[in-house]
Amino acid sequence: MISTFIGDIYGNMLGFNRNTSLTNLSKSNMYSFYSDDSILTMATYKALTEAHLEDDEDVKNHFIDEYKNFYFADSLRAYGGSFVKWCKSDSREPYNSYANGSAMRVSPVVFFSSSLVQCQRLAKLSSIVTHNHPEGLKGALAISSCIYLAKENKSKEEIYSYITDKYYPELLDREFLKENILKFTSAAKITVPLAIAIFLNSKSYKDIFHYIKYVYDKDTILAMSLDIGEVYYKDEVLPFISQFIPYIPDKYIDILKKMYENQDRIKNLLEKKSI
Ligand SMILES: [Mg+2]
Repeated sequence: MISTFIGDIYGNMLGFNRNTSLTNLSKSNMYSFYSDDSILTMATYKALTEAHLEDDEDVKNHFIDEYKNFYFADSLRAYGGSFVKWCKSDSREPYNSYANGSAMRVSPVVFFSSSLVQCQRLAKLSSIVTHNHPEGLKGALAISSCIYLAKENKSKEEIYSYITDKYYPELLDREFLKENILKFTSAAKITVPLAIAIFLNSKSYKDIFHYIKYVYDKDTILAMSLDIGEVYYKDEVLPFISQFIPYIPDKYIDILKKMYENQDRIKNLLEKKSI
């Protein structure tokens, strides 16, 4: 979703310059800051628009093709080492990753789902083509479920209860955020529940940004957390879209326009970029 770009770009700006703030974004090197999170999210969307969604093998094949295609079309963007190796090989087999790569790119599945079951089925297919390790897969299932439940207007309590029951009982420990926020890792097992905890603790879409100074994998954690926040806090995302659109290349704006063709407020902002 578009919040993947917002989180990805802001997280990388902050990693590059600790003095970055929402009122003081870098004006130079406009396209320098988006990375794998955003590109592969666009790939997830493209694959789903072209696949026969009822056919698991066809969906998986489209994911494999598009993840590799999008990588080669924009390859110098801080991808994970194992992902790069997989893209450059002829392999169409997964490599058992337990990192957060499949959780960071999963958000578009909600656009193709009219039930939580369908959402989780597509999330699973998008994950297991690379991240077939149980923790990698769980990360993608948990993030997509949070976004879907927010889309269904579920409360934070309901989302919290679903996620702690099904995926991350460790979030029942109310100190989880405090105890894990400084951990130096990209493992889905830590970063995904952290992103969910940041969303659950936030008071607004903007508030999510405040936590990100402290975490290690800034772009990905912020992207995942803001994707849930975008759906939960609804129109609060609009000023941030206006603010970050200049940092998104036109080729991805074209994909985002299709993604949001049924959401007029966001679509109108995206249309403005092309004028
Ligand atoms: Mg990244």
